[in-house]
Amino acid sequence: MSTLARAMAESVPDARGRYGSYGGRYVPETLVAPLEELEHVWIEASADSGFQSELAVLLRDFAGRPTPLQFASRLSLHLGGPRIYLKREDLLHTGAHKINNCLGQGLLALRMGKRRVIAETGAGQHGVATAAVAARLGLACTVYMGTEDMERQRLNVFRMRLLGAEVIGVDAGSRTLKDAINEAMRDWVTNVRTSHYLLGSALGAHPYPQIVRDFQKVIGEEARQQILQKESRLPDHLFACVGGGSNAIGLFHAFLQDSSVKMVGVEAGGRGKTLGEHAARLAAARGFTGACPGVLQGAYTYVLQTADGQIASTHSVSAGLDYPAVGPEHAWLAEVGRAEYTAVADEEAIEAAKTLARIEGIIPALESAHAVAELIRRAPRMSPEEIVILNLSGRGDKDMETLARYA
Ligand SMILES: *Cc1c(COP(=O)(O)O)cnc(C)c1O
Repeated sequence: MSTLARAMAESVPDARGRYGSYGGRYVPETLVAPLEELEHVWIEASADSGFQSELAVLLRDFAGRPTPLQFASRLSLHLGGPRIYLKREDLLHTGAHKINNCLGQGLLALRMGKRRVIAETGAGQHGVATAAVAARLGLACTVYMGTEDMERQRLNVFRMRLLGAEVIGVDAGSRTLKDAINEAMRDWVTNVRTSHYLLGSALGAHPYPQIVRDFQKVIGEEARQQILQKESRLPDHLFACVGGGSNAIGLFHAFLQDSSVKMVGVEAGGRGKTLGEHAARLAAARGFTGACPGVLQGAYTYVLQTADGQIASTHSVSAGLDYPAVGPEHAWLAEVGRAEYTAVADEEAIEAAKTLARIEGIIPALESAHAVAELIRRAPRMSPEEIVILNLSGRGDKDMETLARYA
């Protein structure tokens, strides 16, 4: 085993939630106890077969797992490169992989005796998944959302309210996700005894990145089994888009120790490489500027920031990738060279969505379309013997207005 593979085999993160120098827990004193409680309950639940089987039943009957690993025969032929398989997370209830994590954390909330969950949402996808899970589990649900985002995503606001969630508009700052997060944190600090903060990606203070990875790793575990069944060997390449990083780490995790499996994470290249025009935190090698290590929302990781340390504004056509920080495990995987990170521009993602729609009959989420675009770039240089698994993290219904604008 190589040194790197051995490092992977060891338990990562360490006891303080560090992935190399990334991760950790940078929070006000009031949040230390609830984070420790969460960690404690989650460790217990991980070893409790009752918890695991309750989660497995919900994943199967409510969310729709296992998702298929589909051979994309026409896309493979069209690109003239490798054999391409799509992991169909887009077929899940509420339209994306996010429900995997929401179900897991919803059950953890119940186990902690907390009858209310708090979430923040940008485009509304995490809010809708959280609201659906809260309804299913009988939990009260409050979702914070910037008023700018509420206007842009009125259908998702309606969905959340139909599912019984309270949606609170946040009028501060840029009236988007960052501001919603601040309000959600304020609520959590105030109501920490009765409320669980249901974080939507592999981000934030320890133990969140590890918990979210744990609830998303089912993606890679299924895909590994499915590809061994179909091809009798492991894939050569994995592709996934990276917002906070939960669907990507969910796919990657089961393969980290297989050094022959290359991994590509695809960030939002937006409309340019200068700070403010993109959300590429780990793609400096591709010329994207403005990212360096810093602390945001409780963890040390790569953050898009100005020279004087202000959080930068970001841009992406796809709201799920439009965020200034990346999950700390990805920062570490990039640093040790286990995964490669790159970025795709808005227009390439739109084109890739159209290609997948026409060739395979699947309209992908624009987030997922970023991964498809990178695969389209690289496929012609791969051989027909190579095998690719691409995580199709979500479906494109929510993006129809945007797609129509570019049509
Ligand atoms: C939210 C979202 C993402 C980005 O989140 P990650 O935590 O990086 O996975 C990607 N794809 C879809 C469809 C999403 O809804």
